[in-house]
Amino acid sequence: MTRYVYRFGGGASDGEAGNKNLLGGKGANLAEMASIGLPVPPGFTIATTACALYDELGEDIDTVIATQVADGIAHLEKVTGKRFGEPGSGAPLLVSVRSGARVSMPGMMDTVLNLGLNPWTVEALADTSGDERFAWDSYRRFIQMYADVVLGVDHGLFEEALEIAKEDKGVHLDTELEAIDLERLAERYRAIVLEETGKQFPDDALEQLWGAIGAVFGSWQSDRAKTYRRINNIPGDWGTAVNVQAMVFGNMGDTSATGVAFTRDPSNGERAYYGEYLINAQGEDVVAGIRTPQYLTRAAREKAGARAASMEETMPVVFAELARVFDLLERHYRDMQDIEFTVERGQLWMLQTRSGKRTAKASLRIAVDMANEGLITQDEAILRIDPAQLDQLLHPTLDPTAERRVIAKGLPASPGAACGKAVFDADTAEAWKQAGEKVILVRVETSPEDIHGMHAAEGILTARGGMTSHAAVVARGMGRPCVSGAGSLAIDYKARSLRVGGHEVAQGTIITIDGTTGEVMLGEVPTVQPELVGDFGTLMAWADTKRRLKVRTNAETPLDCRTAREFGAEGIGLCRTEHMFFDAERIMNVRRMILAEDEAGRRAALADLLPAQRGDFAEIFRIMAGLPVTIRLLDPPLHEFLPHTDEEIAEVAEAAGVALETLKRRVGELHEFNPMLGHRGCRLGITYPEIYEMQARAIFEAALEVDEAPIPEVMVPLVATRAELAIIRALIEQTAEAVFAERGKRVDYLVGTMIELPRACLAAGEIAKEAAFFSFGTNDLTQTALGVSRDDAGRFLTTYVEKGIFARDPFVSLDVEGVGELIAIAAERGTLVKPDLKLGICGEHGGDPASIAFCEKVGLDYVSASPYRVPIARLAAAQAALRK
Ligand code: PEP
Ligand code: MG
Repeated sequence: MTRYVYRFGGGASDGEAGNKNLLGGKGANLAEMASIGLPVPPGFTIATTACALYDELGEDIDTVIATQVADGIAHLEKVTGKRFGEPGSGAPLLVSVRSGARVSMPGMMDTVLNLGLNPWTVEALADTSGDERFAWDSYRRFIQMYADVVLGVDHGLFEEALEIAKEDKGVHLDTELEAIDLERLAERYRAIVLEETGKQFPDDALEQLWGAIGAVFGSWQSDRAKTYRRINNIPGDWGTAVNVQAMVFGNMGDTSATGVAFTRDPSNGERAYYGEYLINAQGEDVVAGIRTPQYLTRAAREKAGARAASMEETMPVVFAELARVFDLLERHYRDMQDIEFTVERGQLWMLQTRSGKRTAKASLRIAVDMANEGLITQDEAILRIDPAQLDQLLHPTLDPTAERRVIAKGLPASPGAACGKAVFDADTAEAWKQAGEKVILVRVETSPEDIHGMHAAEGILTARGGMTSHAAVVARGMGRPCVSGAGSLAIDYKARSLRVGGHEVAQGTIITIDGTTGEVMLGEVPTVQPELVGDFGTLMAWADTKRRLKVRTNAETPLDCRTAREFGAEGIGLCRTEHMFFDAERIMNVRRMILAEDEAGRRAALADLLPAQRGDFAEIFRIMAGLPVTIRLLDPPLHEFLPHTDEEIAEVAEAAGVALETLKRRVGELHEFNPMLGHRGCRLGITYPEIYEMQARAIFEAALEVDEAPIPEVMVPLVATRAELAIIRALIEQTAEAVFAERGKRVDYLVGTMIELPRACLAAGEIAKEAAFFSFGTNDLTQTALGVSRDDAGRFLTTYVEKGIFARDPFVSLDVEGVGELIAIAAERGTLVKPDLKLGICGEHGGDPASIAFCEKVGLDYVSASPYRVPIARLAAAQAALRK
């Protein structure tokens, strides 16, 4: 019999503690905590493998797992001495039913609490707890949650009934309702369920349990879960586990509490307990951001200038126990933990632990600190950092000297500065982003339904919720700056505006938020570049000693070249010369060159372009001081440089002194149906050699001008055959010799090619005879290998990724199976002919960690990435080397 149910707690352990693939993250960690002797309420996990079973069988899943679930319940009854669904002699057994995938998906899937309550057990709960109000409050909450999650009844109906109950009694707060009111409310809730579903609310505890199990498994396929998986690259076939666990109550009066905590600060990584708790509350109350929670430690409370007492002050004994557990968990998992706990009448219970999500800044500090503390090794520290997350650190922060019109202050929930137009709902955020706007999503509080809007936004601002609210947790995970709990904001969704201290911010108004200080500002505040020192510098230095791959950059402007060098680039892997042609002062000469009727005309225009091009190259060589610089000769189809609208054509005709008709004819002649497969790349050099001749001359003249001579690498694009490269190489060599003779000086240089066509990969052995290096242009290679247009693929590739045809967009992360195979073939055939052939990659994939791992595997010499991705590539290269 296949095992699907695994017990934990109360001395039982079914042997799979720590197996996240099988038990999901939550289940694996609960079992592990129980096995190291921490106080965990007993429970059982229905394995992730049952999720696929549910997809297949639906509710009939019980035919396969009913006996195992019954054994699980029997375990709970035995350990707790309580009865499930029956009043029995003592307290009834109530359970929570929660999802738990391999990786945490905060708030994405469903949870049901207090399951097992019915008209009989609620009486028993009232008796044994001695708190009638608490019992009825639990019951009415259970009905609402269950009806919403399992039965699909609109939760607004229950909110409404609650409001009416308060009105009838003439009170404002939920807490002012008494036991009898809540009992009546529960009755009303049951009536709502009957009205809405045509069925009685289930009283049978087992029936309740199966409903909840089905809902949790079903929620794996909900739209919001799918969106979250797409954004975070989580495969759909992992499935979720279901955790059924005995309930403990943080809402049994003033000696009870519930809280969430991190063993270190998840915002900045500081070594200090960090968290929030609420006295007399249930777990969801903290996370949902409905009541603003209190600090865990006295130091944190004092630092924030808050008055409400910390847990350290109100419950010193339990707090000391909790602190001991924190240290134990950190030593056990050797990582910062994110913990949920409940105190039931003075007894501490651990409900969850997992490696905590953290900002990039905190990631670095924690990894470096833990390595220095001896808890992990330097190699582990390097492997702990998600390279993509570094992006958060490399972007600008607010200029400290700039003037700020601060209109509100909230909690610094996720660091970094963001500026954009205020929008008040997720759909608008997404639509505006698609229209090219930058937006800040402003919400009273966020919920999992807002996930797509949070992703589209530059930053997130909420009026409610603490540092561990949904907005804060999700924003930190996504690397979006976030200010949460800015309580002074009065947000009006209907009017699409907010009011604060006499200001009105309507939808579309530009605001700036600073997730590092919690400030909210009117207008755009200027930013400054980040400092690449401290923990970042330390970790990158460690990484640099571990990597084999060199890291270059794709850059052509002096600014990009300088930025890339600051980020540690070891040369230029791709300088796209066409970008230099678009400059306003040069485009006219470029157009003259293209429009010329004959070679003499072209040469005249090219001669005017030469000094500018030489100047560009000289400046790049100076910035790169002695490092290798790969310059690609002109690549795009010529018509890209020509005017398109009638107005532009007229303007150009006049400036160039050609007749309008002539110009129109020439534009027509240059038109291509499929320009990406047309007259571009080395085909330009074959047909108009004078273009490449001018560019080669500019490169060599510049190299001779600069003191710290670089080694120019002249790169020929879009080569398919050896013959093409042979012709162009001869042209480059003749030009070089001519320049050297004129100047009476020489420099070393290399001639190589981009490999971006499948034929070139297959014929690599022949092509290598003409090339000193290959640089894989994986943008075009992906396009030509897959037969998918890189400019149009967006329309269908998302569907392809959703349907699992591609695990990831092949233009973002290398299609290892297909394009990767071509690269491997080319590398092998090329180096067989020429063992010292230099191999690199300069497509977008050069900055993608998974693709970099592939480059390490096939033994390329370097990767080349856009400037902001250089640090990401350095770290990813080190990780790839360490994992090898
Ligand atoms: C490529 O094709 O991968 C490449 C780097 O060149 P471009 O993106 O300029 O076509
Ligand atoms: Mg290309």
